[in-house]
Amino acid sequence: MGRAVRENEGETKVSEYTRRDFLKTAGLAGAALAVPGKLAGMTPAGQRQASPTATGPGGKRKKVIVVGAGLAGLVAGYELDQAGHEVTILEAQLRPGGRVLTLRAPFSDGLYAEAGASRIPNTHDLTIRYAHEFQLKLVPFYPASGQYVNQIAGERLLGKLGAASHWPVALTAEEQRLGRAGMWQKYALSAAKQLGNPAAPGWSPKPFASLDGVTFTRFLRQQGASAAAVRVMTLGMDYDGASALRILADLAVNGNVTENYKIGGGNDQLPRAMAQRLSTRIHYGAMLQRIEQDRSGVRAFFLQGNLVHQSEADHLICTIPFPVLQRVQFQPPLSDERLNAIDSTHYLSATVLFFQEERRYWQADGLNGFALSDWPVAVSQPTFDQTDPRGILAATLTGSIALREAGLPEDRRISTVLNEMETLFPGARENFEGGVSKAWNNDFWAKGAMQWFRPGQMIEFWPYMASPVGRVHFGGEHTSPWPGWMQGAIHSGLRTAREVQEAAS
Ligand SMILES: Cc1cc2nc3c(=O)[nH]c(=O)nc-3n(C[C@H](O)[C@H](O)[C@H](O)COP(=O)(O)OP(=O)(O)OC[C@H]3O[C@@H](n4cnc5c(N)ncnc54)[C@H](O)[C@@H]3O)c2cc1C
Repeated sequence: MGRAVRENEGETKVSEYTRRDFLKTAGLAGAALAVPGKLAGMTPAGQRQASPTATGPGGKRKKVIVVGAGLAGLVAGYELDQAGHEVTILEAQLRPGGRVLTLRAPFSDGLYAEAGASRIPNTHDLTIRYAHEFQLKLVPFYPASGQYVNQIAGERLLGKLGAASHWPVALTAEEQRLGRAGMWQKYALSAAKQLGNPAAPGWSPKPFASLDGVTFTRFLRQQGASAAAVRVMTLGMDYDGASALRILADLAVNGNVTENYKIGGGNDQLPRAMAQRLSTRIHYGAMLQRIEQDRSGVRAFFLQGNLVHQSEADHLICTIPFPVLQRVQFQPPLSDERLNAIDSTHYLSATVLFFQEERRYWQADGLNGFALSDWPVAVSQPTFDQTDPRGILAATLTGSIALREAGLPEDRRISTVLNEMETLFPGARENFEGGVSKAWNNDFWAKGAMQWFRPGQMIEFWPYMASPVGRVHFGGEHTSPWPGWMQGAIHSGLRTAREVQEAAS
């Protein structure tokens, strides 16, 4: 492991103070990090500068191993490196980004689509700020023109996303009048408001244990939603037995989203830009197998090039998803409670399929290639702002159908879901040039899409998600108040970096 080389000692000193000061506060107090939602008002990275402050116990330059070069590990590594610590990142794959995965192959003519993280809500201050820091352009996720398809009970309704003047299912008169957005407000958002701010320091799920005892869909029925209302509300998404508290906390923490963005050219540019800055501090093809720690330090044993290597440090930040962490050994062993959380935390099943179409034939009917269906599937058209006349329809399946498709060979997956595409956008088969899919449950380095607590899990596992064990710190989206979002991964990267920064030795 090479030592981190600092190119310009004088310059580094300034940024060291800035970064250390930044780590004390950045993004860790929820609303305390006020970043305006409007892009025009964003705080440029350079303006983060603050007056130098005493570094306190964190003043010592520490050796830190970060495991995982997804956004959580990259942010932790980047901030600690900028603050002058000696950082080594171990990444099992040969690329950075983890679940931020922009597919360019096998598409033609420079087209691309997102297999993982795709949408950045305008309330995600941290994601937006890092995109700005690396001078990446944020562009609208949804097209401003064209009609959306909402398909329910076999009927295709055209209009705005998730909106219809009349839903052809057995809603009550009030639900029909409220519409989908009104039903979300009545049955879910008002309850979410009661949770306070789950991103605030010290927030605990304990007072809301009863909400953790039921699935989200059961909760909606308890709130008075008819079965048809649940069907309309969950259009495009299988909530996969999620705890009501998990989903309500997500609604609470995301706030009032009024716009959604993506990174022009592909979301993978963010992790790639960070990785480029970290350069040789990242070791690719390095699979963590075992962590040992004692009072004086921590050791990581990892497989690289068929050889087991050992690396020593003062602290280790582990950002790998829990289903993958199950394969890592700890010495001394973790507590039974923590092992149970690692072994049992449920992850959402998701399979994403991409259909390259010879031309955007749906435009002739005034459609934009986006759809929600009660199959359930959510369809987006990531190519709406790309120049090639071809188009890609991207279908995201969740829950049991995602799992079922994950079990099929690639060609059968493509052909079954292409049939569904045909019902949403007639002509899909005729214009089809080729397809590809990504089943996140089959991904050896993720084993699922995102942390998705089942009933009872949020209360039981909460104390064991983000708390450190000695010199080992746990990050990743699953440990954050924004599970399942890039914002969560980044937030956890900042939190773990701060834990290391503030540790006495
Ligand atoms: C289908 C899907 C849709 C999504 N949609 C959105 C969205 O619209 N908006 C949004 O903001 N977010 C979205 N997300 C979530 C977002 O992608 C994640 O929250 C975020 O990327 C997670 O980052 P992470 O660093 O926590 O984990 P990861 O990205 O999983 O990084 C962990 C890293 O650890 C590595 N690793 C694993 N095991 C080992 C080992 N033993 N040794 C060394 N390295 C190891 C992995 O290779 C990986 O690179 C989506 C995710 C999926 C799957």
